[in-house]
Amino acid sequence: MNQLVRKSLIKRSILDVGDRRGSAALENFILTGFGKPLELRCEGEVEPQGDEVLIEVTRCGVCHTDVSIQKGYYELGGGKRYSMQERGMKPPIILGHEIAGRLVAKGQGADDVQIGKSYAVYPWIGCDECMMCRGGQENFCTSPRFHGLQRAGGHAERIVVPNSRYLVDIEGIDPGLAATYACSGLTSYSAIRKLGPKARTENILLIGAGGLGQSALNIALALGFERVTVADIDPVKRELATKAGATDVIDPGDLGDRSVGGQFVGVIDFVGNAKSATLGIEALCRGGIYVIVGLLGGQIELSLPPIALRPIAIVGSLTGTLTEFRELIDLAKTGRLNETELELVPRRLTNEALDRVREGRIRGRLVLTRET
Ligand SMILES: [Zn+2]
Ligand SMILES: [Zn+2]
Repeated sequence: MNQLVRKSLIKRSILDVGDRRGSAALENFILTGFGKPLELRCEGEVEPQGDEVLIEVTRCGVCHTDVSIQKGYYELGGGKRYSMQERGMKPPIILGHEIAGRLVAKGQGADDVQIGKSYAVYPWIGCDECMMCRGGQENFCTSPRFHGLQRAGGHAERIVVPNSRYLVDIEGIDPGLAATYACSGLTSYSAIRKLGPKARTENILLIGAGGLGQSALNIALALGFERVTVADIDPVKRELATKAGATDVIDPGDLGDRSVGGQFVGVIDFVGNAKSATLGIEALCRGGIYVIVGLLGGQIELSLPPIALRPIAIVGSLTGTLTEFRELIDLAKTGRLNETELELVPRRLTNEALDRVREGRIRGRLVLTRET
């Protein structure tokens, strides 16, 4: 880029996206308005202070959430929308919450991490003060400062992470995979953890074998779960699940004379519409736990007495905690976790990568990579 143009870009791009200080130029992709493509802008160099650490982003997974934020809303089904503005999100935003990178600088208080080493970043950072944060559930914080949403994400060249405790050592595992574990992997892992102690040896059911469902299957098998059934209406996905090691697969659109009612100690619903929820809740045995992750949308009518009489639990699940993220990275380090297929895309093609995710033109996961 011509020096003059570069200088004027720096001048024009004094944005309040947190974390920006100093003067040298970094090329960051920025969402300047909902519904618009990202703009490449040069911004000031960043410098960590106190407990902060500075990460040079080497990998950043592209997730459906990025696409929803770019659009400005989530589709809730039935024509309903959940707007980002209502969630307190306002451009400029630097997207990207699946981040792995190299530690390039640290504040004086961050003495437990090493410069030059690769880490995955836990992005679901809270206010550190509310009841959720104090209880170790920052991902449920009511004043979140998540990387890639309220705080600069992996579409920046470098990001300041507020504390070194959010860095997880990924030595020995692929940094692209580690990055994707921060969102899809962690979401699946946390949902599995909610199934309770009987789930490892008894029947569990995963509804929906898309990205999250497949990742949940891999994680459950790596954790030693013995009886995992997968339900999906798509025969290709059912076949993939069988190949990956599912104990059984079912077509929820055509159960034939097969009954699934009352047979599972745990169900995770990665679809989240009226049909999947009805199937999932009916499939529970006494004392069973239904975990809902999917956000496809809709509503069901539910008789209340059976909840107490059967008795069952209906639980929502969203991303996961820092502790769960560390456990998941440890699980990956054992080598037992089947690897998700990744496609590396140079970060200069960030807009194209978002387009492809929006249009479903992907196989496996897209991961932006820094050109060296
Ligand atoms: Zn909080
Ligand atoms: Zn995500």
